[in-house]
Amino acid sequence: MTLDGQAFLEHFRSMSEIGATAGGGVDRQAATVADGQNRHWFRGVVESHGFEVRYDEVGNQFALLELAPGAPWVAVGSHLDSQPTAGRFDGAYGVLAGAHAAARLAGLEGAKYNIAVINWFNEEGSRFKPSMMGSSVFTGKLAAEAVLETTDPDGVSVREALEGIGTIGDFALEVAAYVEIHVEQGRSLEDSGAQIGLVESTWGAHKYEFTVKGEQAHTGSTMIADRRDAMLGAALLISSARDVADRFTDESGTVVTSCGELYVYPNSPVVVASEVRMLVDIRATGAERLEAAVAAFEERIREAADRARVEIERGAEHSWTAQEYDGRGVELARAAAESLGLSSRVVRTVAGHDSTNMKDVVPTIMLFVPSVEGISHNERELTRDEDMTAGVDLLTEVLRRVVRGEYAYAE
Ligand SMILES: [Zn+2]
Repeated sequence: MTLDGQAFLEHFRSMSEIGATAGGGVDRQAATVADGQNRHWFRGVVESHGFEVRYDEVGNQFALLELAPGAPWVAVGSHLDSQPTAGRFDGAYGVLAGAHAAARLAGLEGAKYNIAVINWFNEEGSRFKPSMMGSSVFTGKLAAEAVLETTDPDGVSVREALEGIGTIGDFALEVAAYVEIHVEQGRSLEDSGAQIGLVESTWGAHKYEFTVKGEQAHTGSTMIADRRDAMLGAALLISSARDVADRFTDESGTVVTSCGELYVYPNSPVVVASEVRMLVDIRATGAERLEAAVAAFEERIREAADRARVEIERGAEHSWTAQEYDGRGVELARAAAESLGLSSRVVRTVAGHDSTNMKDVVPTIMLFVPSVEGISHNERELTRDEDMTAGVDLLTEVLRRVVRGEYAYAE
């Protein structure tokens, strides 16, 4: 089979049937049965095109294509895991695009590098926290042992889950550069009419885990003054986060905040909640803006605890500052897009990606294709066929230049 755009779309449609949901999306959370099926399906696809597949100690999946035996490796990848009731494109598009781009370069004359297509384990962080787990271990930001012992809400560890789907090993690889393509998950490309986003920087982010502790009581017979309502404490944190977003957003920059997850105990219609576990995240353009937003939010934690008469415990926190991608990579990708007649513009990424980790250790190029209406983490997520295939063409051209040694980064 020749790996043209049509072949890519056929593979993409087949993959989208794995873990498919009734609403047109997928549910392939990390190391679930559906994620395992998808990983094995992907293995079959790449092996039929001459790749060898390996797993490292935390389940990162490597599809290896030798172009220059003995030469160093460059990597291209993204993640096959998804959120619950997710779209079909987030992450999965980039892994399959990477495989097609690499396969199109098989037998390339004058290659100075080999290509590893990487499916990073648990980028989404919905089942096991934190997100971007596989690439965090690969880049030395998290210890493999700690990751393997991390459990999901049912008490299943990463190690058990990965062994259960048979996708864990002891492979290790050094890579010299990294390229990733992903759906934008925002609307700046669609709004501007550009076909390709060249990512120049990330946003900064600070993520909190809170446990709000009150006291269980009857929702009818317990007077308001006597209540220690954990749900109220959680609600005050949520609305405080929103106030912070409004206060620190102006013409020169943006703050976005959210609480995407709550576990309420006992979660009964006639019981005042005694405990709420929740996550809050604050993201901002620029380091100073993030710092100011975080400080303002933290002042409000005490106020929320006092008003609801609850205790608010802070758990694990993760923070990263807004960071630049390698400017030479942006230029290489811009030139590659131009050579194919594709329009491009420079964008920032709000969402975290595996490339956010990789860019801290190797020269990294990050590309976006448009998302219709910017919808993401939603079954209605959509990237048009012609935008997907244009992205694969560009990724192939970028990878060709990198593999030929044209990415003139410092060794
Ligand atoms: Zn993603």
